[in-house]
Amino acid sequence: MTENKTIAAISTPMGTGGVGIIRISGEEAFEICDKFFKAFSGRTLASSEGYRAHYGRIFDGENAVDEAICIVFRAPHSYTGENVVEINCHGGVFLTKKILRLVFDNGASPAAPGEFTKRAFLNGKMDLSKAEGVMSLISAQGEQGVNAAYNLLEGSLSRKIEEINSSLLSVAAHMAAWVDYPDDEIEEIDETNLRKTVINAKNEIDLLLSRFDSGMAVTTGVDAAIVGKPNVGKSTLMNLLTGYDRSIVTSVEGTTRDVIEETVNLNGCILRLSDTAGMRETGDEVEKIGVDRSRKKLERSAVIFAVFDLSRELTDEDMELIALCEGKTVIPIINKTDLEKQADISIIENKLGKCVAISAKDGEGYDELCETVANIIGTKDFDTSAAMLANERQRICCENASASLKEAIDAMDFGLTLDAIGVCIDGAIAALLELTGQKASEAVVDEVFRQFCVGK
Ligand code: GDP
Repeated sequence: MTENKTIAAISTPMGTGGVGIIRISGEEAFEICDKFFKAFSGRTLASSEGYRAHYGRIFDGENAVDEAICIVFRAPHSYTGENVVEINCHGGVFLTKKILRLVFDNGASPAAPGEFTKRAFLNGKMDLSKAEGVMSLISAQGEQGVNAAYNLLEGSLSRKIEEINSSLLSVAAHMAAWVDYPDDEIEEIDETNLRKTVINAKNEIDLLLSRFDSGMAVTTGVDAAIVGKPNVGKSTLMNLLTGYDRSIVTSVEGTTRDVIEETVNLNGCILRLSDTAGMRETGDEVEKIGVDRSRKKLERSAVIFAVFDLSRELTDEDMELIALCEGKTVIPIINKTDLEKQADISIIENKLGKCVAISAKDGEGYDELCETVANIIGTKDFDTSAAMLANERQRICCENASASLKEAIDAMDFGLTLDAIGVCIDGAIAALLELTGQKASEAVVDEVFRQFCVGK
């Protein structure tokens, strides 16, 4: 158990509800609560054997302020690994804050964001990737997202990384012994086996990387931008996908001047959707800023909905958009199928692949669009029980591990010495240990938990 101050925070959302929970963790948790909580049984929380709910009253000085149930968990068998009390009081915003103030007045300190989970990590209750699973579960949207995040929390990724790492560690240890003690009777390294182990490990890591975008799309969502020249129907499409009039629709070009964002769930695929200003040359200063933002969105989004107007011939602006989209994950959409066809779709399809034909105005083609999105982002048959990466930090660790293993394979191809190959494998192991937190710096750990909410 780490030696820490006793911390407290409200763990339920700020709002009026039936119940509010205040969580307290640390060595002094029971004694602090005993100063203002009196159980009807007359027993103190400090004398509780734990894993019991104690019903009683909360006092501010002489005055009872609420009836509450305190649940007692004894170290090390608690979420944080420390003594924990969870006060279940009535869920008024003022009331929960007042009781939290009592907890502070009696000796606890405010918990930082994610500090409960950080303590769980520091006390060996979970590795970093599981802690990040907690975060994914809290922010998961949709059925698939909850399943995938729950599996993360259960250790699907930890187990996979452990498996890859132990295969690498065993060859690394063997190589180190062989290089360091050449005179000892250490079995020679079988190059074929070594190559096989490294290639297998790299394939497993690359598989995790290839599932990253789809994994994000089922859990927390991916950035998707609706782009196109003015008046092709971007805002109408945005409204169709969000299910309400989020963007202003008019026949006046340049109506949408800034990026409008909304999160949508398309059959389990979560998109952080942006409706952007129509891309065109303009003398209007404000519109120019909007057009620049559209370009930036297009550059940074994981998925692009490139919208074209079927009822008009393609223009230079359409051709410019096609060029900007090439090489990206793009869904070309040909809108206004209810009108007479003028555009030559083959020009778009030659460069960007098959178009989805829709009429954003009356919703035609919506199902086909959802299906295409799920296919392109890979959420359709996404296996939520398989290991997946939960965030950018984990993705970068895997990218680094994969790059080191590629260097190891190159080193073998060039016939370099075993110690050179060993250095590359060690690099991959270090990257994977950083992912699970076994070798992560304090700064990395702090950064992970900073992204949590207070009370978790
Ligand atoms: P944006 O500038 O690309 O965002 O385009 P808007 O969504 O504002 O639409 C521009 C105009 O096209 C409006 O008058 C819409 O009503 C019209 N529009 C959008 N989608 C369709 C469609 O599917 N069919 C028809 N006929 N008109 C559409």
